[in-house]
Amino acid sequence: MTATQVTAYVGIGANLGDALGSVQRAILQLDRLPATRLSAQSSLFRSAPIDAGGDDYVNAVVRLDTQLAAERLLAELQAIEHASGRERSYRNAPRTLDLDLLLYGHDVIASDALTVPHPRMTQRAFVLIPLLQIDPLVNIPGRGPAHAFAPGVMAQTIQKIA
Ligand code: ADP
Ligand code: MG
Repeated sequence: MTATQVTAYVGIGANLGDALGSVQRAILQLDRLPATRLSAQSSLFRSAPIDAGGDDYVNAVVRLDTQLAAERLLAELQAIEHASGRERSYRNAPRTLDLDLLLYGHDVIASDALTVPHPRMTQRAFVLIPLLQIDPLVNIPGRGPAHAFAPGVMAQTIQKIA
């Protein structure tokens, strides 16, 4: 039996140490996940921290074709985060690597461990802009086309890294 293939989107952010290197390594690791293929990646972007101090973030979004269940995919994302030496002292603290499951097919998930679509994705330029770069017409289940939220984040500065 063949497991169903799902299109998932993952948001990547880092702002400690070698943030650019952490994001690039994370992209390679996502491509190597079991039963998963990286099918698109955005440019890398720089953004100023929201509700927190510290250095600028490096951000990107990738699209994965995966046969992993959503909970399993989240566990794999957390394993990659931990392997990159992430230490969280408080909410929104600087982190070496943050991987968020933004979308998982057309699924709407609300469990203790997992909320999909990611609840804050429509408010963050550093998620929306890279996501729309990959798939301008992508839909957010229950919320409509992602591009409809772009005007609301226009005031947030993010810069494509050359
Ligand atoms: P945030 O990324 O929102 O700033 P964290 O990365 O620290 O905060 O949040 C991690 C927690 O969020 C984990 O315990 C995880 O179970 C939960 N979580 C819920 N939904 C998601 C999701 N869609 N992607 C990633 N983590 C999620
Ligand atoms: Mg996270």
